Amino acid sequence: MIVNMSEKATEPEIAHVIERIREAGYQPHVTRGVSRTIVAAVGNGRRHEIEALLVAPGVENVVAIAQPFKLVSRQVKPERTVVNVGGVAIGGAGVVVIAGPCSVESREQLLSTAHAVKKAGATMLRGGAYKPRTSPYDFQGLGLEALKILREAREQTGLPVVTEVMSTEDVDIICEHVDMLQVGARNMQNFALLRRLATVNKPVLLKRGPSATVKEWLLAAEYLLSGGNSQVVLCERGIKTFETEMRNTFDLAAVALARDLSHLPVMADPSHGTGKQSLIAAVSRAAVAVGADGLIIEVHPCPERALSDGAQSLDFAGFEKVMKAIAEPLRKAAVSVQQETNLAKV
Ligand code: PEP
Ligand code: MN
Repeated sequence: MIVNMSEKATEPEIAHVIERIREAGYQPHVTRGVSRTIVAAVGNGRRHEIEALLVAPGVENVVAIAQPFKLVSRQVKPERTVVNVGGVAIGGAGVVVIAGPCSVESREQLLSTAHAVKKAGATMLRGGAYKPRTSPYDFQGLGLEALKILREAREQTGLPVVTEVMSTEDVDIICEHVDMLQVGARNMQNFALLRRLATVNKPVLLKRGPSATVKEWLLAAEYLLSGGNSQVVLCERGIKTFETEMRNTFDLAAVALARDLSHLPVMADPSHGTGKQSLIAAVSRAAVAVGADGLIIEVHPCPERALSDGAQSLDFAGFEKVMKAIAEPLRKAAVSVQQETNLAKV
C-alpha cells in the first residue's frame, strides 16, 4: 500500500503515518520527492488499518501498489534513481560505459586494458575475479590476486571498478577491493547472496537471469532494496530463446520496460547479449536509443587468446571504433535525459 501525503503535509503528519504503518505490521519506506512525500507500507500487515489512513491529517490518498515488486516500482518512487559508483553517476544525464575483460588474466592484461578503455572514453572498468563457468574444467578466475590487480588498475586510471560476486563468503573481501559488485545472470535468484548484498554499503549491478522474466528480475532487485540496499543498477544481458545464431537473444524492449516499471537505472550488456564482436556497435546504439543508462562491454588485448568470452570481446581498436559509433547517440541521450529532468521540474 502507498500513502501519498499531500503537498502541504507537515513533518509531524508524516511521522504519524509512519508510526501507524508500523503499528499495522508493515515496514514503512519513505520517499521524499521534489514536491511531495510518499510513504509505502511494505510486507504483510493489516491492510484495513492502512486504508483507514485516508482520513489522517496530511494524507491525500491511499492506493494499492499494483505490482508484486514494491520499493523497486515507479509507483513508490516516481523520480529516477541515480547510483553513485566511486564518483560516476549511473542513471543521471549521460550514458556510462563500463569496459574491460571478461576475466582478469594477468596484471599486464588488465592494466593495459584499463588504460586503453579509459583513453577511448570508458568511465568504469570491469574484470572478473571469480568466474561462473559452465564447465568446472574452464578457467575459474584468479580470485584474490585479480582483486588486487583491479584495485591497482583503479589507482592508476581513476576508473571505478566492478567485479562479480558468486558467493556470500567472498562478499567482504570483494567489498574491500572494488567499487561495485555484480550479481551475474546465473545468480540472479541466489536469494542468500541477494540478502547478504542488501546489507553492504556498495552498489550492486544486478544482471537479468537468462530465463528470468522482467517481473522475476525486478523481484530479485526487491530483495536488495527491502533488505536496505537501494544502490542497485539493473542490467539486461540477453535471454535464452530458440535462436541459436547468437549466444543469447538481447531483449531490447526489456530495457525500456524495466525503465518504465522501475526507477532504478538500467544498463545493457551487448557482449553477453549477442556473443559476437560484430554486433556490439549496433546493439549498443539500439540500447542507448531505447533509454539504457549505460553499457557494459568486454574488451581484451588479444581476444583470440582470451581465457573466457574471446568471441564477444573487442580488441582495443575495435572498442575505439564502437565508442566512435556510439558517440552521437551517447551525446543525444545526455541531452534528452537533461530535457526530461528539466520537464519533470516544471
Ligand atoms: C560476465 O559479465 O562476464 C558474466 C559472466 O556475465 P553474465 O552473468 O551476464 O553471463
Ligand atoms: Mn564474460
